[in-house]
Amino acid sequence: MLTNKRVVVIGAGVSGLSTATLLLQKEKGIEVHLIAKHFPGDLSGEYTSPWSGAHWRSHATKDNIRQQEYDKETFNHFWRLAETAQDKTGITIIDGFDYWEQLSQESSDLWFKSLCPEFRNLRKEELPTGIEFGVTYKTVSINPSTYLNYLLNTFISLGGTMQRVSLSHLNECIKSDTDVVINCSGIHARTLGGVEDPEVYPSRGQTVIVQLPHVNWTFLRHYAESNIGMPSDGSIEMTYVIPRENGEVVLGGTYDEHNYSTDVDDNISAAIIQRCLATRPDLLPPDQTQLAIKRNAVGLRPCRKSGTRVEGEWITSEDLGKKILVCHNYGHGGAGFGSSYGTAKHVIEIMKEMLEKQESV
Ligand SMILES: Cc1cc2nc3c(=O)[nH]c(=O)nc-3n(C[C@H](O)[C@H](O)[C@H](O)COP(=O)(O)OP(=O)(O)OC[C@H]3O[C@@H](n4cnc5c(N)ncnc54)[C@H](O)[C@@H]3O)c2cc1C
Repeated sequence: MLTNKRVVVIGAGVSGLSTATLLLQKEKGIEVHLIAKHFPGDLSGEYTSPWSGAHWRSHATKDNIRQQEYDKETFNHFWRLAETAQDKTGITIIDGFDYWEQLSQESSDLWFKSLCPEFRNLRKEELPTGIEFGVTYKTVSINPSTYLNYLLNTFISLGGTMQRVSLSHLNECIKSDTDVVINCSGIHARTLGGVEDPEVYPSRGQTVIVQLPHVNWTFLRHYAESNIGMPSDGSIEMTYVIPRENGEVVLGGTYDEHNYSTDVDDNISAAIIQRCLATRPDLLPPDQTQLAIKRNAVGLRPCRKSGTRVEGEWITSEDLGKKILVCHNYGHGGAGFGSSYGTAKHVIEIMKEMLEKQESV
């Protein structure tokens, strides 16, 4: 059904690259053209994916079945890649730890208990100081730069074409031969003409990158209600570490909603290091007295009030006098890698259903 259809994908972050690549892998005879202002290798505050951790840790709530499905599909996909193509993809199997300062409903409601191998509650003697409850499980870490390049290379090898363009309006990428546009513009869905989604906003995340090859585990510390770190600037402190396959470890972090600043704050970096070491002093190699900063990073998570937007709509191009299907895949917040394969798969299903329905009319 998609033979000879021409699909334009906007965006070369993890959402756009996953969608464009999967389209070519699954649909025979389709043409896919990727348009973006930023591509893998670029470092810009306007381009979130390279600044990501990244690891798989689902934040889907017990009742959010749609998000759970996205995360589950992606976990299984990443697990296969880690087992078969770790070097090419930068995806590695690691140990995950979640620590709660106070036992909460959230800690007992984790939906991915049955998904992640070796999931179990931690024994008392395994808990860091100040932690009441914890779990461990197997998960994956993703080196964003390696994975984005892997996706782009796969896309090109399957015959995909690309173009560096900065669009002001969706209409600018719709030509007479365009059948579908898939919008994966991340944070820019707020300003891109023809989309202008007021629900999209940034959440600034600052991290510190260190070189610690002995660390092959990730942790996330959940604060007690009374203890949530909120410095006077209004940002929310998070405490987590994410190892990468190349020996780098990302120390985090912050979650600062509506803050567009991509400047590094050295005081925040120092506080992040302190918090991470307080939770896991074994981050520090025995022969070192302090962690050496390799570099700092700041990225803007593309958040959306009502969650990720994966849906389609028909628009009429006045210039061309025809209807065009526009599908959306943006607003992934702090979990865009962990849901990337699942959302790409779903947006393609939506596209096919809507085209089929239209053709049968
Ligand atoms: C500090 C930090 C840590 C994170 N850790 C994790 C983690 O551990 N696990 C996880 O799953 N997620 C994590 N995330 C979240 C994840 O990085 C994002 O959800 C994800 O990268 C969003 O990808 P995207 O493709 O939607 O957007 P982006 O990567 O921003 O890509 C958007 C693309 O659209 C293009 N574009 C936009 N507008 C236009 C236009 N007008 N014209 C042309 N091109 C345009 C851009 O050039 C770019 O190519 C983290 C994020 C941060 C900041």
